[in-house]
Amino acid sequence: MGFKFKPKPTVDREATKEELDKIKETEKMLEVEKKLPPASQMVRDLATTHWKSLKAFIKGKQVITPQEVAEERWKICQQCPELLYDQTNPDTGKKDGRCTKCGCFMNVKVHYSTAECPIGKWKESKND
Ligand code: SF4
Repeated sequence: MGFKFKPKPTVDREATKEELDKIKETEKMLEVEKKLPPASQMVRDLATTHWKSLKAFIKGKQVITPQEVAEERWKICQQCPELLYDQTNPDTGKKDGRCTKCGCFMNVKVHYSTAECPIGKWKESKND
């Protein structure tokens, strides 16, 4: 049985500048991915925050934290070495800060009353 497609041998050549740039870009992306937690952890964190928010909503508690609390949390995150700025948030299209511990975009997460820092730098805001 013969093959219809016969691969042609390629000639050895140097990589073009464009190819080298793409390789560098990909390696940079992989470095960032290595720093972020697995997708399963990010989904679990997001699901937990949303579940706690839903419970708070049902109990008539505040779901969105007061602006001053969000700003206080955001200041802590901005000084934290775990915050990365080289990730584009698909919701805003901007390079928002992303936490390497939970994988969340923190400028959004700080607004949830029930959210908390995964390493305890700030807590859930109590609003009974
Ligand atoms: S949530 Fe906690 S660990 Fe993540 S960036 Fe903010 S302060 Fe740092």
